[in-house]
Order: sequence, then C-alpha cells, then structure tokens
Amino acid sequence: MQSELQQLNNAHHLQPFSDNKALAKSGPRIIERAQGVYFYDSNGNKFLDGMAGLWCVNLGYGRKELADVAHQQMNQLPYYNLFFQTTTTPTTKLASKIAELAPAHMNRVFFTGSGSEANDTNFRMVRRYWDLKGQPNKKTFISRANAYHGSTVAGASLGGMDYMHKQGDLPIPGIVHVDQPYWFGEGQDMSEDDFGIKAAQSLEQKILEIGEENVAAFIAEPFQGAGGVIIPPKTYWTEIKRILAKYDILFILDEVIAGFGRTGEWFACQYFDLKPDLITIAKGMSSGYQPIGGVIVSDKVADVLIEEGGDFNHGFTYSGHPVAAAVALKNIEILEQERIVERVKNEISPYLQKRWQELADHPLVGEARGLGMVAAIELVKDKSTNERLEADCKGGGICRDFAVANGLVMRPCGDTMIISPPLVITKDEIDELISKAKKTLDDTANFYGISTTDSDK
Ligand SMILES: *Cc1c(COP(=O)(O)O)cnc(C)c1O
Repeated sequence: MQSELQQLNNAHHLQPFSDNKALAKSGPRIIERAQGVYFYDSNGNKFLDGMAGLWCVNLGYGRKELADVAHQQMNQLPYYNLFFQTTTTPTTKLASKIAELAPAHMNRVFFTGSGSEANDTNFRMVRRYWDLKGQPNKKTFISRANAYHGSTVAGASLGGMDYMHKQGDLPIPGIVHVDQPYWFGEGQDMSEDDFGIKAAQSLEQKILEIGEENVAAFIAEPFQGAGGVIIPPKTYWTEIKRILAKYDILFILDEVIAGFGRTGEWFACQYFDLKPDLITIAKGMSSGYQPIGGVIVSDKVADVLIEEGGDFNHGFTYSGHPVAAAVALKNIEILEQERIVERVKNEISPYLQKRWQELADHPLVGEARGLGMVAAIELVKDKSTNERLEADCKGGGICRDFAVANGLVMRPCGDTMIISPPLVITKDEIDELISKAKKTLDDTANFYGISTTDSDK
C-alpha cells in the first residue's frame, strides 16, 4: 500500500532522471529529515549518506548557522538582482572570498543558479571572448565521452552521456567529444601510464582535425564524477598540459564536484597543478543548502570581456541570489574556521582511502580507487578476467538495492559503485560505511551465487 503522499506524487510529480512509470509502481522513498551524515525516510529508516545528497552536502546536514544566515538575509533583503548596475552585499562578498581562495590568476566570479547554468555561461562567455579577440571562427568546444557538465541544452551537449544525447538530438552543433581516461573500462590492454597518454592525445588529434583556428575551448572535469569517479592515470594531466600549452585554446575545468575541498585542496586545479582559464563551480559552494553556481574567470578572459566587451548580454534572474550567496559565504567561513579542507587532506581522506582499499580484496571487486573524498569500486564476476556481473551492467543496480537495504547510499554508474560522502564524516562513520559496503558486496555476491569465503587477492 502506498501512502497518500506517494499517491499524490505519482499523480502530479514528474521527476528528474527517473523512470516515472516504474517509480509509480514502487512509490518514491520520501526523505523527511537529516542530521550530520545521516538522513531518515518517512518509514523511519536511517541511511548513511555516502553521496552527500548529490555530491553537495559537504558540511553535512543540520548546520544551524546556515539556516540562521538564510533567515537573517531573507528578513533584510530576500531578493534583488544583479542586472543594470546593482549588486547586493552577500553576493559581492562571496565573489571576493572565492577570488581569494582561487588561484592567483583568477579574480572574478560570474554567478548562476546551478552548475548547468554555469556551463551554459562558459559556452557563451568563451564564444564572446573569441569574437572580441577578432577570432570569430574559434567556436568549437572539445569535451570528452562520458563527461557530465549538466542537463541544460549546452550542459548536456558539453557532457558526453549517450543516454542524454539520445533524448533531444544532442549534442548541438559546435561541440565534439574525445576519449575519456577510463583505464579500467577501456584501457586494460595497455599499461595505465600508456593509456593515460593515449587518451590525452585524442585531444591533440581532434585539435589538428578541426584546426586550431576553429577550436574555442577544451572542457573537462578534474576527475569524472557522474561518469563513475574516473580518476585519470598519472600521465593524463601532464600530457593534456603539454597539449594546452601548445595550442591557443581556452581550458575550462568543471569543478562542480571537486571544488571547495573535496580533493583536500580548495580547488582541484591546485591538487592536479592545472591552470584553467575558467572554473565551473556549484554544489559544495553552498553545501547544497541553497541553489547557487558560477564561473571563476581568469584575468586573461575577464580583461578582454571588460575592456573590449561592453555589455555581456547574459545572466539569470537568480544569478548570485542574495540568500544563496549569504549561505554560500557562511558555508565557506565554516570550512575555513573548522579547517575542514586541511582535515580532509591530512586526516580524513587518507583514512577513507586506506579503508576503501580493503574492498579490493572482495571477490566481486575488480578495482578500488579514489582520491580525496570520492571513491569507486568496479564490480566483476571474475577477478582474473574482470568480466562484468551481467552483460548490460545491471549488477550495479542490484548492488545499490542491497546497499539501501543495509542503510547505505552508494550510487551505481553501470557496474561501478561510487561514493562521495560529506567532508565532515568521522572515522567511526567511515568504519560504518566500510562495513556496510562489505555486507552489501557479500549480499550481491550471494545474489549472483559467487562464493565469498576465500578472499583471494
Ligand atoms: C552536477 C554537475 C553539474 C551540473 O550542476 P547542476 O547544479 O545540477 O546544474 C555540472 N558539472 C558537474 C561536474 C557536475 O557534477
């Protein structure tokens, strides 16, 4: 029997990234409250949120300071826009704070309401930049297969998700895709290092094919998130840097997941030693307590837009919304005061990654990988061949259902199981996460009739 709320939901709510027909049968889980790294559903079930919502609740749930600052800002000024020569105090303070934390060559922020809008902003800003530079032919964006850059028309087109492209005739013209650096999935016939170089060189081949004079920018996530926590081989970024230095194209680093501490640095460009021209931000910027995103703009790009550009005819009603900005600013202040980014780097991510590696011993796990506060395991039927559990990658969904039954949120991407917990997770909570993940792997192995008694390496 479904509850009244579930029935109302089935009748009236068309949900994003959901099979609404299947959902109507099962009835959605209704999430009612949350505290720390846990949330509770309407049946009183408790879950350890291994995904921090959708990679965003970095401070964990229930931070009263964030609610208080929103309340205060709503009372003082619930809304004003940034168009036509105005700003608001929290928005300007937030821009200045982000510029302080960002790499030295980046000193301005353009605000949006989400990560997708931020990548749409990149799309327009980069084309505007090249027009102003007198190189209007430089229009083509190069992205990567299996990238995620959001769900708007430009965001989904920049992304490399086939299942999204199929719906709505995407990508739009002017966006092409090159190889992703997914060694476990696509490169096992060569060494990880060689594969990293090969994947990177697909960018150079594409630049030469299209002609440098026609290429606007390369966009990439520092590690792919929604694609399955894909961490490039060590050689990859080194080779990409060589290519970016050789050709006159802009580099957009999409740090919607990685930004604001998830790697143990404020930004992943610091972790990987990269020098982007534009950085996409959202998610962890406000720990998801308010919707806000933006683009951190390098001086190189900003100077051209400002000095030569006149009006940039782009923006959103809710660009840099004052309540969202006040919450984001408070979120960053807490990250600083509680030294959470340092704690991730020196204490919590080493512990998480050490314990996560124990899963590699499980008969169902072909690879365990991670960095900072993200991690993944690859589910396989046979560790010696890395053959998948089922031909169509259904094993991940089965494993996810067992995780949920065990009170743990892990997300499947095909047969890859991923986590991205709140940055504030404690060691005890990590222990709980690992033991629930082990139990989940055992349950999944039993389901497929695979023995778990000998943990051969
Ligand atoms: C989530 C995500 C986006 C899109 O952000 P929204 O706020 O959902 O629009 C863009 N890029 C990356 C890397 C993301 O993970």
